[in-house]
Amino acid sequence: MITVELTRSHAGPVAAGHPWVFAQAVARLQGSPNPGDEVQVLDADQRPLGRGFWSPSSAIVVRILTRDPERSIDASLLRERIQNAVTARALFGLPDQETSGYRLISSEGDYLPGLTVDRYGDTLVAQLGTIGMQRRKSLIVELLAEVIAPRTILEVTSKTAQAREGFSADADTLWGERGRPLVFRELGLNFSLPSDNMQKTGYYFDQREHRASVQALASGREVLDVCSYVGGFSLAAARGGAARVRALDSSQQAIDVGTKIAEENGLDVSFERADARRDLEPMARRGERFDMVVLDPPKLVPSAKHFERGRKAYRQLNRYALGLVRDGGVFVTCSCSAGMSEVDFLRTLSLAARDARRELSVFRVGRQGPDHPIPPGFSEGAYLKTVFALVR
Ligand code: SAH
Repeated sequence: MITVELTRSHAGPVAAGHPWVFAQAVARLQGSPNPGDEVQVLDADQRPLGRGFWSPSSAIVVRILTRDPERSIDASLLRERIQNAVTARALFGLPDQETSGYRLISSEGDYLPGLTVDRYGDTLVAQLGTIGMQRRKSLIVELLAEVIAPRTILEVTSKTAQAREGFSADADTLWGERGRPLVFRELGLNFSLPSDNMQKTGYYFDQREHRASVQALASGREVLDVCSYVGGFSLAAARGGAARVRALDSSQQAIDVGTKIAEENGLDVSFERADARRDLEPMARRGERFDMVVLDPPKLVPSAKHFERGRKAYRQLNRYALGLVRDGGVFVTCSCSAGMSEVDFLRTLSLAARDARRELSVFRVGRQGPDHPIPPGFSEGAYLKTVFALVR
C-alpha cells in the first residue's frame, strides 16, 4: 500500500475530520502512485488517518473516503456509500409525490468526495470531479444502475474540476437512453429541462426549502426574482399566490426554458433578460418597487484570492436590490460562495443596507437543504447562505 505521511503541523485538521489533504501537508510519499491510485494517509507518527485517491495535479492531493485503515476502497465500500445516501434521502422524504428532483450524492457529505449525483426523476446526472473517480467511472455507473435502476445516467463534470485534476471528460450519456430531457417535480411543480448546455447539472436543488419559504410569504405580493435561472423562486412565489412575478436573468436560455416551465404549470411569471449589475439601479431610479425581492447571484467569491473583489460585488448588488424593496417588504438574499462565511456575508449585507439607507431585520438564515449534507469538520461544505430580512 502506498502511504502519504503528513507533517506534524498539518495532520491536525485531517485527524479532526477534515477530508482534504493539501499538497503542502505532505511530508513524505512512500511508493510512486499513479494519478487516481488508492493511498493510505498517515500522521507524523505513522498512525493511519484514512484512505483516498491520489490527485497529484490538484492542490488537494487526497480526499479521504474512509477512516477505516483496514477497509480498501472497493466496489463493496462504494456500493455501501451509495446505499447510505439513498437511505438518508428517504429519511428526508426524498423522493415523494411532490418532489422527484434532488441531490442524491453530495460528495464529501456522503463520504464520496469527488462524486456528486443529482437525480431528475428517472435520470441521474453525475459529476466525477477527481481523477480517482474518473478512473472508476464504469464501476460507479454499474453501482448506480444496480442500486437506483434509473433509465439514463449522464455525466457533466465541471471544466474547473477537469483542469484542476488534469483529465478531460466531455458531457456524455454513460448509461441508458440518450437525449431525453430532465423531467422532474419540485414542491409539486413540473419541470422539463434540456439535458445539455444547462448550468451545473441542470438545476439548483440546494434552494428547495427556501423556495418553500418564499411560496409561504408570497400571497398577494409583487415579487422580483433577480438571477432567477429557470425561475425556481419565481414559480414558487406564483404558486403561493403572488400578485405579480418578474424574473430577471442574464442567460437567454434560462429565460426561454423558464418561460416554458411557467406556461406548462399554468403560472404567470414574466421572464426578462437583464444584467443585475447594470439594470437594477436604473429600475430603482425609475421608482419601481416590490413587496419581495429575491437575489441569488452566482458564486462571486470562487476562491480565497477573490475575496475582496467578491465582497465588493456582493455589497453593490445587495445595495441595488435593496433600493427596489418597498417599505416593510421582504428581502431574500443569497451567497453560494464557500469562500465567504455566514458572518462575512451578514456583515457585507449590513454595509449594503447602510449604503442603501435601509434598516434590515434578519428573521431567518438558511443553508443548503438536507440532501446537501456535510461532515462536521468540513466548514467549506457549508457554502449556501440564504438570508430573509424585513426592510424598512
Ligand atoms: N435563483 C436560481 C439560481 C440562480 S444561479 C434558482 O433558484 O434556481 C445564478 C444565476 O445568475 C444564473 O442563472 C446566471 O445566469 C445568472 N447571472 C449571472 N450573472 C448575472 C448578471 N450579471 N445579471 C443577471 N443574472 C446573472
